[in-house]
Amino acid sequence: MNQQHTYAVALGDSDYTADCSFVEDPGAQPSTILIENSARLVYLVNSNALLAKDIALKLGAYGYRVIAFDSMAHLAEHLPAVPINPILVDVASHGVDEWTLSEIGRIRELCQSRIPMLLLSAHANMELRLKAAHAGIDAFFIKPLDIQALVDYLDTLCPAQEQAPYRLLLIGNDRQRSGTYADAFHAAGMEVSMLLKPLDMFGALGDSRPELVMMDVETSGCGGVDLTALIRQSKTFLELPIVLLSSQASQQAWRDAIRCGADDLFPRSMAIGELIQAVSLRIERYRALQTLIMRDGLTGLYNHAALREQAERELTRSMRRGEQLTLAMIDLDDFKRINDTYGHPVGDQVLRAAARLLQRRLRNADVVGRYGGEEFAVLLPATDTKAAAGVLDEIRAAFQAIRHKTDKSEFSATFSVGLAQFGGQSGPASVAQLFVAADQALYRAKHAGRNRVEIASADCA
Ligand code: GH3
Ligand code: MG
Ligand code: MG
Repeated sequence: MNQQHTYAVALGDSDYTADCSFVEDPGAQPSTILIENSARLVYLVNSNALLAKDIALKLGAYGYRVIAFDSMAHLAEHLPAVPINPILVDVASHGVDEWTLSEIGRIRELCQSRIPMLLLSAHANMELRLKAAHAGIDAFFIKPLDIQALVDYLDTLCPAQEQAPYRLLLIGNDRQRSGTYADAFHAAGMEVSMLLKPLDMFGALGDSRPELVMMDVETSGCGGVDLTALIRQSKTFLELPIVLLSSQASQQAWRDAIRCGADDLFPRSMAIGELIQAVSLRIERYRALQTLIMRDGLTGLYNHAALREQAERELTRSMRRGEQLTLAMIDLDDFKRINDTYGHPVGDQVLRAAARLLQRRLRNADVVGRYGGEEFAVLLPATDTKAAAGVLDEIRAAFQAIRHKTDKSEFSATFSVGLAQFGGQSGPASVAQLFVAADQALYRAKHAGRNRVEIASADCA
């Protein structure tokens, strides 16, 4: 008899693999899976294989992988010594009994780490909840399972694991010196780009989108202080942290650096550990500030202004590389009716579900934003409209499959998509034209009956 199943919905970060293929692999060893990809993994205990599969598929739509066990005993056998992933215990129809609670307590004792334990039960009263909490349960979900609520909870447990590495650009033409710093920052988990020719600086700033620039003051040809002044002339980089390194970190040198717009000047003799700490703190603060400035409060996606700015940046980059760039405009269908029928808060919940799905299903390189109201926009670099149509159509189908719950009922929602591609002979030649073309395609999708993807006419020829 199978004790354990791995339910995986393929969702790559680096490429489009969101084909929702369902992999059932009873032979897989949980320990190897944990090492390979543990960030979005959930252990599920459910004696009913069909129900387990159903939960796995629903969680899979949001990028979670599930390893299912048919009993608490089998879970206990297979858990690694220091598990980090949440455990969801779906108790059978008879509800939470003393035995289940004692098993939960036993798992807690077995684990050397404090992992989140969630309970899914058909019944809930104060006494049960108290007993569950006493046994070490962190969250209680009542059947029928509200998958959105579960994903919301899981998302709060996982963001730290998802944080992208800090991006650092090192500028200086002493290859050996820059290389030593690059190795140290890389070893500290940062993504480091090195620029040996300062004249290519603006290209590098656009390409590597650093969150901090570290420059050698003694860079021959064009010194770090002058380069700092140049960067500060561009309003795009007004808040970008810049730190300088110098062999002569005198008070005067520090004042000159600050006057030109640098955030700090450190002596090259500074211990590398301290330098890494100083850089990390600045990037952390920069990120917090960027979130406030650039993100939409409801969905966490780029807001309108940030999206337009990213579009300019992506277009410049695509032109330089001779690559395609596709813009997708996405508009929820009949959203006014959803608000009118179920209320504004439920409408907000639908918006958040769409945003989350887009974020999960697209590549890291894609830029996802809330264009306004119930409209989203996605920039897909190095992608033509044909490939983008395939991806967006899969997301469209996945969105349609989501059941949104209210107190009294549940419903599904849909969206329409318009796609346009930058470049080509008669295609859009600027960001403004790209948005107009995608908007026209979106209009066609609405006109043709909604819940579909349309490609701008110039790209269809
Ligand atoms: P169509 O299929 O043609 O796009 O129809 P629609 O009803 O989606 O379009 P319409 O422009 O008539 O309505 C958009 C609605 O979106 C109206 C507005 O109240 C709602 N909306 C905009 N922003 C938000 C928001 O932040 N939260 C909620 N709940 N609703 C919003
Ligand atoms: Mg609209
Ligand atoms: Mg709409």
